[in-house]
Amino acid sequence: MITTVKSLGTNILDRIGNTPLVRLDRLAAHLDGIQILGKAEWANPGGSVKDRAASAIVADAQARGFLKNGHGLLDATSGNTGIAYAMLGAAMGFPVTLCMPSNVSPERKRILSAYGAEIVWTNPADGSDGAIREARARAAAEPDKYFYADQYSNEANWKAHYRTTANEIWEQTEGQVTHFVAGLGTSGTFMGTTRRLKELNPAIQCISMQPDSPFNGLEGLKHMATAIVPKIYDSHLADENIEMPTENAYQMAKSLARHQGLLVGISAAGAVAASLALGEREAKAGREAVIVTILCDSAEKYLSERFWEEG
Ligand code: PMP
Repeated sequence: MITTVKSLGTNILDRIGNTPLVRLDRLAAHLDGIQILGKAEWANPGGSVKDRAASAIVADAQARGFLKNGHGLLDATSGNTGIAYAMLGAAMGFPVTLCMPSNVSPERKRILSAYGAEIVWTNPADGSDGAIREARARAAAEPDKYFYADQYSNEANWKAHYRTTANEIWEQTEGQVTHFVAGLGTSGTFMGTTRRLKELNPAIQCISMQPDSPFNGLEGLKHMATAIVPKIYDSHLADENIEMPTENAYQMAKSLARHQGLLVGISAAGAVAASLALGEREAKAGREAVIVTILCDSAEKYLSERFWEEG
């Protein structure tokens, strides 16, 4: 008689976080004394870094009594947070409604409908700001139906990274990390990780990366100067901000695939391009560096983009 089945195996949600730190050694081989390392966030069960924030937001909502008895989660998301919410809703049993621009990649649409989430499409011309306005309007119209997760303002977002991502980086580098680089979307990853790393060692340089224009291919990231600035974002926290042209991220995505064996997403490639530029600068100045960046997701959701075939 098998009586212990319930204790076998693992809950998929327990696999969020504790991602590997991978060496980008071939990429930085020409740079003396420079190590570039990436957190392999595609290893999260929902396939991206956003599993961390979404699971923390859901846990916080549940602790406050929301998401019970058919009460649903509502948010605006360009994709990865939506995928994470959709996975969590399916695994934990609450409905998920997502507002997003209708030009998100076909791969993302398929993933979200596979998890059974309800999607409210917004005008692509209005970008992620249009999706945010739609979510706000719905939340205001039907407050009893939805918990409005509001990842852009929700403190649980950055705290997830303060508690997990930063400490993992510290432990995985045995405290030797000198630089941290991350792209800015909601800014949760950068804010939370930076706050904790600076507590552990105030000398760690923390560099944010954002697209160089509002019209860019770095899906998931914001051009802060022209966007609704997330409430959780504090521009003073970064030691430096790097603006990344889409083309450089595309080139790096191809380089990482062909010369490092890593098939990462475009924002991840942009973060690596920023890390490499930083490494080149440090090497030129004769300094050693351990640069850690976030590889937010894999390339799988972006394979329909044409740049892979060009050049
Ligand atoms: N890269 C990708 C692919 C994303 O989906 C996101 C989330 N929007 C980010 C980077 C940025 O993460 P954060 O929201 O924590 O700033």
